[in-house]
Amino acid sequence: MLGGMQDHKLRVMQLLDHAAREHGGQEIVTHWADGTETRTNWAGIARDARRLAQALKAWGVGPGDRIATLAMNHARHLVAWYGAIGVGCVIHTINPRLFDEQLVYIVNHAEDRVLFYDTMFQPLIDRLKPQLTSVEHYVAFDGPEWDALLDAQDGNYAWHDGDERDPCMLCYTSGTTGNPKGVLYEHRSTMLHAMTEVSPSVFNLSPQSVCLPIVPMFHAASWGLPFAGAAAGVKFVYAATNDAKVLCRLMNQEKVTHSAGVPTVWLAMFQHMDETGDTPAHLKQVTIGGSAAPRAMIERLMKMGVRVGHAWGMTETSPIGTMGAPPANWDDLSFDEQVDLVCKQGRVPFGVELRIVDDEGRVQPRDGQSSGRLQIRGPWVIKRYFKAEADCACEEQWFDTGDVAVLHPDGTMQITDRSKDVIKSGGEWISSVELENAAVGCPGVAEAAAIGVYHPKWDERPLLLVVRKPGADVTASDVIGHLADKVAKWWLPDEVLFVGSLPHTATGKLLKTALRDQYRDYRLK
Ligand code: ADP
Repeated sequence: MLGGMQDHKLRVMQLLDHAAREHGGQEIVTHWADGTETRTNWAGIARDARRLAQALKAWGVGPGDRIATLAMNHARHLVAWYGAIGVGCVIHTINPRLFDEQLVYIVNHAEDRVLFYDTMFQPLIDRLKPQLTSVEHYVAFDGPEWDALLDAQDGNYAWHDGDERDPCMLCYTSGTTGNPKGVLYEHRSTMLHAMTEVSPSVFNLSPQSVCLPIVPMFHAASWGLPFAGAAAGVKFVYAATNDAKVLCRLMNQEKVTHSAGVPTVWLAMFQHMDETGDTPAHLKQVTIGGSAAPRAMIERLMKMGVRVGHAWGMTETSPIGTMGAPPANWDDLSFDEQVDLVCKQGRVPFGVELRIVDDEGRVQPRDGQSSGRLQIRGPWVIKRYFKAEADCACEEQWFDTGDVAVLHPDGTMQITDRSKDVIKSGGEWISSVELENAAVGCPGVAEAAAIGVYHPKWDERPLLLVVRKPGADVTASDVIGHLADKVAKWWLPDEVLFVGSLPHTATGKLLKTALRDQYRDYRLK
């Protein structure tokens, strides 16, 4: 017997319809790379998305085809997302910071038919064009073609209809290991993820939220914010730049309450605040994810009266896996205990499940001690990479994240490392992440990376690479002294080397593979 309720498919365009109908006047502000600012609103985004869908259809582009973007955050990029999905296509956001070979690989693998881009990437496009075999149309968002394309259409268009399991978006992982892999999101997974993100225990969004996502639209679907923001009817403020001075000014000008980004963007913001005395005065909630948020960062934001949501996730999980939202006993905790809690990666929202397994695949207890491989399952977690021949999740749908974590009895998850980054010393694991986080708390240290290097007796021992803050003269013994009461004695790095800079991935994370290659033959003193 079936129940008596409506058979209503979950389709992404319902989000935009809702935003345009119920929150049509909510503004979408853009600060463009050339410094100009424009304003539209959800009704305007919907109108332009319909015209773009018509234009794509006129080109013979349709259901299932991939439409690529190589662009920063702005209103037209948002129009491209919804316009492409509206005509049944798959929006494929590409990270312009990837290496040329990776970009060529990704576009050809995705078989993108149209590529929308920002003119700041024109040299990149010109360089890659001869190798992009599938692209038929190139359109600059900030050039005259965009206006001409939309102006030729009347906007009288009904969104393409289909199944809720149809694909709607394609994001490639940044390829910290091997070739980038495509994650193909569906209408249904995207809708469930968006509806969850709105909730108080995730992004805590409402029509009173003014949200400036610093996380790029090309990184893990901008953490789902363009979808969740439509569901909640938020006002968006977009900046096609990462310049902390611009971001801080915009935050105050538009009274931004919510923001989200990787740790490095907050470091830049703090530096700006220290230099100028400026502060983003209206911020209420900041989400930090993509890599572990250092304690000092969390503490500083919390002292500014900001609620910090430390989130963990990956492209393969749409990306929200966990989020640190205040638990029931939050008000009973001291400030330091609250900071301790936020340093961990939070708990799952309803919809996904986590477990920890050891190397033999045995499920480990949630005791805050047992560390092992973190696995996840749920309706917005990957089952199979785009064009892959086999599933990447096991039969019971568990996907192995490649992260190493512990689960605490209350369900709080704590990442201790990436499985390929743990340092194995005498058969025991040393967390490179913990060493790095403790090291960046040392005065004078700007950034640190810990890697395992060969040791004849212990197999591997930690080597700590440190970048000094400008003008600082911190020494190796200062760093070791700082670490001494923060990590176990046998975890202390055998050596501290000062370097001018550290390599990063296209999403701003430490590129450990490159460091391991570089120091493969390094002999500890
Ligand atoms: P990649 O960096 O491989 O392109 P993602 O951007 O999807 O892929 O990153 C996912 C990975 O980032 C996770 O598997 C985890 O290692 C790391 N990560 C994400 N959020 C956090 C966090 N809050 N703390 C620690 N690590 C995190």
